[in-house]
Amino acid sequence: MNAEYREKGFFSFLKSLSAPLLEFLFPSRCPACGAYVEKSGDWCPACLANAVRVRRLPIEGEHRKNLEEAWAFGLYHGALRELLIPLKFKRKRSGIPAIRSFLEEAGGALHREDWMPGVVVPVPLFAEKEKERGGNQTEMIFREWMEAQGWVWRRALVRTRATKPQFGLSAPMRALNIKDAFALSEDARLEEIAGKNILLVDDIMTTGATLAECARILRSAGAASVSAWVLASDRA
Ligand SMILES: [Zn+2]
Repeated sequence: MNAEYREKGFFSFLKSLSAPLLEFLFPSRCPACGAYVEKSGDWCPACLANAVRVRRLPIEGEHRKNLEEAWAFGLYHGALRELLIPLKFKRKRSGIPAIRSFLEEAGGALHREDWMPGVVVPVPLFAEKEKERGGNQTEMIFREWMEAQGWVWRRALVRTRATKPQFGLSAPMRALNIKDAFALSEDARLEEIAGKNILLVDDIMTTGATLAECARILRSAGAASVSAWVLASDRA
């Protein structure tokens, strides 16, 4: 029996175990401090409270034309950053339960019962990149939680070409990098956009140039307003 085969056998053996037994064999740990927690995805209360930094982000002049406001749930730093990087760049989904717990805590702090977006639109990846990554990480993070709030999730935008990561580019280069990089998708229904308040979602906001460009497309399709929520940002 070769090693690969043995490994496969071991994983299918693990899969056959019940959740409580797995928890006993491989106890879950807080993603920030490593303390034992009750179940997979849990944080210890102090670390979770520390990671949640719900705040309104500053939007630069030009971007304000189409993007009304932007909110972040946490800092792109520490445990949250460590959870996002493997998901974003290495297709590793093991951090998703902890990210969802974080979202529930932080999203609960921001979400007001009397407020509801007309439709939620994720910032799209270029189709090839999404295929390569096995999905859009923004969708993996937010969709289930937002649909549980009764909100309509619509992939109304597409990325029309591959873009460089915005991180590390100068402001003019960022603008150039994403200019005309988005368009309405075939799934977009104009009646769901025109006259509606759209909530854009993304995993990380750096300068807001990407969000503003997406907002511009949605506004030109008739959206009444576009605001954005991101999981994390390094902006104070
Ligand atoms: Zn902890």
